Amino acid sequence: MASVWPKLQRHAGALRERSREWPAFTVITTPSPWRVAEPMLSRVPARVIFVPSLRRADLDQALAQARGAGLIVGIGSGTAMDAAKYVSKHLDARLIQVPSTASNNACFTRACWVLEPGERRSERPTPIPEAIIADPGLIGSAPASLNAAGIMEILCSHTALFDWELAHHAGRDVDWNEPLRDFAQGELDRLETLAPLVGAGDVEAYLDLLEADARFAPGFTAHPKARFNSASEHLFGWALEEQTGRRLVHGETVSLGILLMAHIQDNRPEWAARMTLAARVPFRPEDIGVTWDEVTRTCAMLPAFTRKVPWYSIIDVLAERDPSLALLQNRCAAARDFVRGLG
Ligand SMILES: [Zn+2]
Repeated sequence: MASVWPKLQRHAGALRERSREWPAFTVITTPSPWRVAEPMLSRVPARVIFVPSLRRADLDQALAQARGAGLIVGIGSGTAMDAAKYVSKHLDARLIQVPSTASNNACFTRACWVLEPGERRSERPTPIPEAIIADPGLIGSAPASLNAAGIMEILCSHTALFDWELAHHAGRDVDWNEPLRDFAQGELDRLETLAPLVGAGDVEAYLDLLEADARFAPGFTAHPKARFNSASEHLFGWALEEQTGRRLVHGETVSLGILLMAHIQDNRPEWAARMTLAARVPFRPEDIGVTWDEVTRTCAMLPAFTRKVPWYSIIDVLAERDPSLALLQNRCAAARDFVRGLG
């Protein structure tokens, strides 16, 4: 099992080259990425397992189908990456990850989401993959909107750093680390250049997003309690998904979460909006498949949701300041007005 994060392999033809060396391997994937990736492989896999969701029953079924596998290759987006982590962990098998989009950072984290009725559990630690292959031919075939949404896995540090510092000042045990904070801030600064390229549909810029995710990965391992890359904006995104009961694009729910939370934090929401507009990632409820009513209901459920994923954030600070929650809900309403007025 790898103990250090591998360098991202991002050159054209990487998947064809690397798959030549794989012994009998088991692919964990979903239908759309598999259609594109299959002809790019040099060898035929021993087994191909399609995973419909991250529900516990689906993950355990994939695990049963993969029994005996020595090498798991995850090919796809967040669901395939997380399922491949889950299966390789439980089989103690080798793991190679082949993300098919830049839309999320799932292949760079040490956790796998496991969904159970009314519950979102994070199973950790999952193995570090021995290789991560970002083939431009595969990534460039994914919808531009999905790839662009991946910028939110970096922009989320804007609101996360703010919350992380709040938690540190509140005396919480959150692995506070100034060099790590400065690193994440540096990645945010780079978005000034990267966001317009992402918005223009530049495949190299999508690969740069994955490269940035790769730079974050060692921090997740070394500082597991540090919230330098996800906090209230992710809580909002997951709560919105739970509220609607629909499958939404992760980066798009997080984009709305960043804008709302940056405003609630009084933390340069205009800057976050400028990056979001430059990268052309949808954030308006009507553009991400939800209604304003659902957004309002999600804001109302945030204090309860933060008991499920207990990450200290601006939500706790405002709820502590005014236990009637009127202050939090007023700030949420002002943030919704800010988002309504954008663009
Ligand atoms: Zn995320």
